[in-house]
Amino acid sequence: MLEKVAMHGIVVIIKRTHRKASVGFRMSLGQLVVLVPHKMPRSQIDRLLESKSDWILAKLAMQGPFIPPVQRRYEAGERLVFLDQELILQISLGSHSTKLKGANELSVSVPRVNPIWIRNALVRWYKLQAQEHIEQRVSHFAPLVGAWPKKIDVKTYRARWGSCNHRGEVQFNWKLMMAPRAVVDSVVVHELCHLLHMHHGPEFWAQVKRVLPNYADAKQWLKEEGHRLCLD
Ligand SMILES: [Zn+2]
Repeated sequence: MLEKVAMHGIVVIIKRTHRKASVGFRMSLGQLVVLVPHKMPRSQIDRLLESKSDWILAKLAMQGPFIPPVQRRYEAGERLVFLDQELILQISLGSHSTKLKGANELSVSVPRVNPIWIRNALVRWYKLQAQEHIEQRVSHFAPLVGAWPKKIDVKTYRARWGSCNHRGEVQFNWKLMMAPRAVVDSVVVHELCHLLHMHHGPEFWAQVKRVLPNYADAKQWLKEEGHRLCLD
């Protein structure tokens, strides 16, 4: 049976399970689900949520806007995610251009309305944003990691978020622009740390954790939600 509680303006789903004593948290379809022992009284659940509220709010902030998976049609009014923001697609006729308008509109202008052209315009725009945003985040984190890349490239990868080579060059998947900022940062730090340690050994993870103590949350997010970062 599902119960819902509102907490600081967000809805939390309570799911009673056969767990013995411990309480678990997981995200499902953009909502926080709290797994509690079958017989835990409601007052105890409320107290528990209250005591954990800072942690829960931080966890939810990591999620970014949730847009249910849809078959994209590249039509006006569709919702897109850009970092921690939700954007509404606007389409107009004219010469090729894509720009942010107002608080949350992404305006795409094309000579002829055609879903393929609109998708291509969006991919070009995301790639440009990725180059700019990631260069800025690399400048922020490089002094903290103590390693500076020779070159930063934005690429299209199907199944990876970043990479690093022996020439000291780092590459990032532009699809990260659809992830929360904290997740992008985690990939930036991961690749910068590879400039110091070209492996996933204990020294590598120690360096990552030193710079980003809650790296594990971002890693978990990518594992669970990474499949949503696509424009097909
Ligand atoms: Zn790695």
